Amino acid sequence: MNINTSFKCESCGAITNCRIGMSNRTEQPLRFCCPDCGQPIDIVIGGKSGGVSGAVQIEAEGPFDDETNFVDLHLDFPVHFGKYVMGDTPFMRAAGRIGTDNIQVHSARLRQLDETYKSFGVFETLLKFYIREKWVPFKNAIEKRFGGTVVSDEMQDRNAALYNAIAVMMWPFARPGQASDDIEQYMDVQLYLAQTHKPAFHAFIDEILKTEFLKNLQVACLGIYPRILKAELPLRPALFLDFDVEYQNKAIPMRVSTDQFDTFKDLYKDIAEIISRQFVLVAGLNNLLKRGDHNAFKPGIGLTKSGRDRTPKNLHAFTDIPFGQKDDFIDDNWFAFGDQAADNQLRNAIAHFKTDYDDVSQKIIYYPRKEGMRQDKSEEIHFLEFMRRVLIAYREMNRLHQLIKSLFYYHYLIHVAENAG
Ligand SMILES: [Zn+2]
Repeated sequence: MNINTSFKCESCGAITNCRIGMSNRTEQPLRFCCPDCGQPIDIVIGGKSGGVSGAVQIEAEGPFDDETNFVDLHLDFPVHFGKYVMGDTPFMRAAGRIGTDNIQVHSARLRQLDETYKSFGVFETLLKFYIREKWVPFKNAIEKRFGGTVVSDEMQDRNAALYNAIAVMMWPFARPGQASDDIEQYMDVQLYLAQTHKPAFHAFIDEILKTEFLKNLQVACLGIYPRILKAELPLRPALFLDFDVEYQNKAIPMRVSTDQFDTFKDLYKDIAEIISRQFVLVAGLNNLLKRGDHNAFKPGIGLTKSGRDRTPKNLHAFTDIPFGQKDDFIDDNWFAFGDQAADNQLRNAIAHFKTDYDDVSQKIIYYPRKEGMRQDKSEEIHFLEFMRRVLIAYREMNRLHQLIKSLFYYHYLIHVAENAG
């Protein structure tokens, strides 16, 4: 369903015609800026805080003409400013671009978010119970709020329940088909290592357990899920780009203040930091596969043109290597990183340099290279494209979290039993 309405800007009096496509979300916060003066205009449909600010809603005089400003708004899709075309709604345009099969997948994901967004808080609490090892409330929450079961007090059964709840809750953000492919590969790698290099493989597991590296990494990953859920609104149009990447220069139809942008910036930085630590597991397994020792990097792989050898002495030394350089020390990597998952320029800019966000144009200016005092080589991306990078980085983190999960399973089911025996 679409509503045609008009808004008179509170600052300059300009009129903007507006077609609002209804999402199924109970509360729909929408925003655009007055095309004439940039005044932010907020519209909240439904919920407790419904209303309009920054403009006065006036009766639409239909059909809309070409002379008046026009904006299409829909919470679930990238939005369009320009000419009004009757019937050419954001939904119809999206369906035309990506086809009805893809539209159904996109809609199914958003439907789940519409149905579950009120339980995001319960999910966050569930993760906290797990992290703090509060097993009674954990079991209660799984059984009463997530329809699951914790079949015993064994860690593998708690983990099964935990990862099930995560898979269900986070499904809208997953790339279709990804998880099962990855888990198969992880199992293959571990079973192969158990057959060919068992003592060395177990030494690797001992080390990542004893140092709590694996546990700390798991806890860090668990901390990301609630933050992705909180970013649900600006991630909705970013999910659409799964089917239509050309749309990444469009605007998003909601308000994102500079403060909120800073939260998303931190989220991106933190996810990248976790991926950088997850690289350590990938490298350790690669060393085991190639040389039967998780600490053994390929000799000379870090040899520079000037003859200096930067090859890490062991996995511990590798951990401290900057994110962007880690991949250089992994020979013929068994794990294929996703495209753009570790965009180093953007990550560096966000982690170390100034980033400017203009909440009217929704453009981000960042400075990817070190330029001394002057920062004149800037790059620009749209906020929607930035949220796309957040989504891609999140998916990569989640893929590698499955590796952590499968290493824990190996430990609980095989490694512990053998150590005891
Ligand atoms: Zn205005």
